[in-house]
Amino acid sequence: MEPFVYQSLPQRIVFGSGTIAAVGEEVTRLGCERAFVLATPQQQESAGLLRRSLGALCAGGYSKAAMHTPVEVTESALAEAEAAGADCIVALGGGSTTGLGKAIALRTDLPQIVIPTTYAGSEATPILGETANGKKTTQRSLKVLPEVVIYDVELTMTLPVGLSVTSGLNAIAHAVEALYTRERNPIIAILARQSVEALVAALPRLVADPRQREARSDALYGAWTAGTCLGAVGMALHHKICHVLGGSFDLPHSDTHAVILPHAIAYNQRAAATELAPLEPLLGPDIGGGLHALAERLGAPTRLADIGMTADGLDRAADEIAATPYWNPRPVERDAIRRLLADAFEGRPPASD
Ligand code: NAD
Repeated sequence: MEPFVYQSLPQRIVFGSGTIAAVGEEVTRLGCERAFVLATPQQQESAGLLRRSLGALCAGGYSKAAMHTPVEVTESALAEAEAAGADCIVALGGGSTTGLGKAIALRTDLPQIVIPTTYAGSEATPILGETANGKKTTQRSLKVLPEVVIYDVELTMTLPVGLSVTSGLNAIAHAVEALYTRERNPIIAILARQSVEALVAALPRLVADPRQREARSDALYGAWTAGTCLGAVGMALHHKICHVLGGSFDLPHSDTHAVILPHAIAYNQRAAATELAPLEPLLGPDIGGGLHALAERLGAPTRLADIGMTADGLDRAADEIAATPYWNPRPVERDAIRRLLADAFEGRPPASD
């Protein structure tokens, strides 16, 4: 066994079907009595139901969470939470809503209960990305790690198929990079393998029948394990590329992960052959190619050109990625990254190194 360091994170997980009924109990368990419920405008109806079911335990709510956690939104939500006398945050939604809850927790230390409805995995991490003046910065702090996560399969039944697929590929990306990151360790490697196995099996079943509860449940389990990987170790080239494309070019989060994943993994395949080997039974000996085939089979976007990228941005993106790379098993070479981006722009199969 190679030497390793593993830091486990303190978090309570409630996983099941109909578990949203336990939110009140979890608020009380935290010693709180004035929950403040967060959501996006698209999910305010579900948030309204939750607020009513919490009754006297609910102090109010805010339903204007937005992608990439803009600080203006955080400040207006914070003012309302303070005016309501909130003593805990309940975030119902995907990574955008979870991000708002984390941003409030960073500033107030209020405890958080997160009820995830996508597969993004943010609820399991001590990571917060925030946008101010058009620039996104990311930090790690235990202050933002949610105290409680309630996974309720029922709430994921309405996640549209397209978003289920791209969000599922976003989760797979966390798990795959966790296998070869510098901070890799045996516990996270086991979780990562389980995560990819659950998601690779569940996503095609979901596409065939989005109402299949068992497939939804397996996908949500895959999302939790993937998020746990993301929270426990650092990430590498794939996440760096997506961070640049999302932060500087405003490309949509999960679509960008879906398009880049096969290319980034193919780039690292040879350098991380031993670490990626556990995925061979799931994706074949060519892991990047296997991920590309999976994305095509699921009907995921495969071209940056289709999700808002313009050809004249590719040089600047390659420069940014190569200028401040994350640690990566294969050196991040500017010209090779430019070729990777060109392949992803056109939707070509990933090139192996
Ligand atoms: P999202 O939260 O923006 O959700 C996308 C849309 O889908 C929203 O309109 C939302 O209301 C809707 N939606 C969500 N669940 C639904 C459901 N079950 N039924 C119907 N509609 C539903 O998307 P996301 O991909 O989950 O999150 C992306 C954001 O999360 C990005 O800002 C990203 O940076 C962040 N993120 C952060 C981390 C972290 O660890 N800090 C990890 C992953 C993602």
